[in-house]
Amino acid sequence: MLHTPHQSLQAAATIPVQRTPERDDQAGPWHADAVCRRDEAGLFFAPSKEPTAARLSREQAAKRVCARCPVLVECREHALVMPEPYGVWGGLTAAERRVVLSRRRRAAQAAAAGQPTTEVPRIA
Ligand code: SF4
Repeated sequence: MLHTPHQSLQAAATIPVQRTPERDDQAGPWHADAVCRRDEAGLFFAPSKEPTAARLSREQAAKRVCARCPVLVECREHALVMPEPYGVWGGLTAAERRVVLSRRRRAAQAAAAGQPTTEVPRIA
C-alpha cells in the first residue's frame, strides 16, 4: 500500500517512494479502503537488521491484517505491476511476489511459444 496504506516505521530514506503520500492518487480508488491505512504501522516493512524470527512473525501478522482487507486483490496486483520491491502488499512478501512474477513471465513466454500453460490469468 502506498503506505499510506500502512505507514512504515523505517527511516524516511528507506521508505519506498511508492508509499509516500504524494503518490496516493496513483494508487487507485482501492487505496482509500485499505485496512492498513491508519493502523498496523511497522508491520509491513522490515526495520534494518531485523532478525529472521522477528521478520517471519511480523510478516505473518501483516498477512493477518491483509486477510481481512477488502482491497487485498487490488493491492496485490498493484504491488505486482509496479513492482513494489519491499514490504508486505496484498498478503504477499517481496519474495513471494518475485515468485508470482517469475511464474507470470514463464507463462507469458510459454504462451508466446504456443506452449500450454497452467498459470492463473492476471487479475484486472
Ligand atoms: S491488502 Fe494488506 S497491504 Fe494491501 S491495503 Fe490491504 S491491509 Fe494494506
